[in-house]
Amino acid sequence: MSSCLAGFKVRYNGTSAQNDVISWLASHGQAITVCPEIMAGFAIPRPAAEIVGGNAQNVLDGMARVRENNGKDVTASYISGARMVLKIALKNKVQAAFLKENSPSCGVNNVYSGNFDGHLLLGTGVTACILKNAGIQVYSETDLDYIKIKSFVSPDIAAEFAAEFGSFSQQVQSERKDI
Ligand code: SF4
Repeated sequence: MSSCLAGFKVRYNGTSAQNDVISWLASHGQAITVCPEIMAGFAIPRPAAEIVGGNAQNVLDGMARVRENNGKDVTASYISGARMVLKIALKNKVQAAFLKENSPSCGVNNVYSGNFDGHLLLGTGVTACILKNAGIQVYSETDLDYIKIKSFVSPDIAAEFAAEFGSFSQQVQSERKDI
């Protein structure tokens, strides 16, 4: 899972994007948290960066770049961070990744346009792309729901999780009715 979703202040602007569900899963030993940008050696804070001239697959193929808003080419570092995350995922037999939407590293459904104009395009970040290419299921924090989480945790943890999060209890009850 993206470290910033677990509450770590590792984003480019020194903030987190804490998500209570992600934090709960991490604190219950159900997730490995990673930040590909910090692993690649970027500082906190750091300039915002976007994928320019193509999509994440194009970046991995050497056909597009990742640039900071000052024009600096940081492509090699973004690929390096993505590869480090992939190595950890494969070593730990990770089945699914929950990543922060819109990031040039972690975005799952959307990333910024590459023009630093605030517009979003369909597409993934570089890390999300490399994980998907390896057959790992990739979800954004906006995709989080009880059914998905239940697939990747033990029954005990799933029950504890359902008890903890009232917003998911309706899904749990409708599941029970279906049995
Ligand atoms: S690279 Fe991913 S984990 Fe790190 S701050 Fe950006 S979105 Fe969060």
